[in-house]
Amino acid sequence: MKNDIYVDYAATTYIKNEVLDSMLPYLKEEFANPSSIYRIARKEKNAIRDAKFKTAISINALEDEIFFTSGGSESDNWAIKGIAFANTHKGKHIITTKIEHEAVLNTCKYLESKEFEITYLDVDEEGIISLEELNNTIREDTILVSIMFANNEIGTIQPIEKIGEICRKRGVLFHTDAVQAIGHIPVDVQKMNIDLLSMSAHKFYGPKGIGALYIKKGIKIDNLIHGGSQQRAKRSGTENVAGIVGLGEAIELSIKNLNTEMDRLNYLRDKLIKGLLEIQNTKLNGPVGTKRLPGNVNVSFKGIDGEALFITLDSMGIYASSGSACSAGSVEPSHVLTAIKVPNDMIKSSIRFSMGEKTEEEEIDYLIKNLREIVERIRKFS
Ligand SMILES: *Cc1c(COP(=O)(O)O)cnc(C)c1O
Repeated sequence: MKNDIYVDYAATTYIKNEVLDSMLPYLKEEFANPSSIYRIARKEKNAIRDAKFKTAISINALEDEIFFTSGGSESDNWAIKGIAFANTHKGKHIITTKIEHEAVLNTCKYLESKEFEITYLDVDEEGIISLEELNNTIREDTILVSIMFANNEIGTIQPIEKIGEICRKRGVLFHTDAVQAIGHIPVDVQKMNIDLLSMSAHKFYGPKGIGALYIKKGIKIDNLIHGGSQQRAKRSGTENVAGIVGLGEAIELSIKNLNTEMDRLNYLRDKLIKGLLEIQNTKLNGPVGTKRLPGNVNVSFKGIDGEALFITLDSMGIYASSGSACSAGSVEPSHVLTAIKVPNDMIKSSIRFSMGEKTEEEEIDYLIKNLREIVERIRKFS
């Protein structure tokens, strides 16, 4: 195989051509400030409205419930700090999980330094929280539950609708980091009782540095960014018009192709899992079947150093991820694999493959064949 194989779509995606084309006018001639009231600013204003509409219908929300941010990290920060600081009169207890993205975990850690109390829920070996434990953990002073929709490392999809139901019944707000879910699996904020939801365009073939936070109508939230009162004074700063247009186009395209792409990636995922598990002493990390994101594979090869394997693959033009991209380079074992009780030596031999739009079956065959050879070779010499 001559071409490189990119199997790190969970870290980021390229921008689809249609998405780039939709953005270009707003990087060139259509430069007016959308807040200006002269005629030429109408195009920008309408473009933002249009993108907001596309984003809203993709998750069954209202246009007024969508706020554009600089990405997933800002959305997570805003949701959690914003709800925390707006509700101190009710309490200072927040519930999350041990397998969240750093944008959630480190925001919670920061809040701990401001006298908030955080409960980090355990997960089972598939990465799923216990609904009973969640219900038992909610207290009088609990103001927010923040549980990710789908995990970036092991692909676990949480029972979001049931979590939403519990939060609704107990009168607690529910935020979900849906950065890995949006554009990849169905999301419906009404059916799932979601109060706040984070998304990021570069995880679904849109540009980097643009995301959105859905905030259910009527919810009181403090601002994270103060300034010139853009976005109905909730999130100030001159809008990233081209980015917003790109996000709107990308989410619309992803939803249009959702079912066929899910089927295709589920097939490739299961084929890759099956092929890799045929290599001796290989273990799958995370769940199987419908509880797992299409396109996510995370395996450990017993006795193999994941970093060495990663470097070997890199030299062959195969781009995967050893652990989470965000903690790559750090020596800490993945907090997600630790939480699902993967032994330390198996964490060190783990690797994540995440597939997407351009992944083809022949690439999967090539991966399986080469990994078998590489793993057997490394084992023979160690
Ligand atoms: C990528 C990612 C983020 C961060 O999004 P950015 O747009 O890169 O800030 C947050 N949560 C999850 C689950 C992610 O995968």
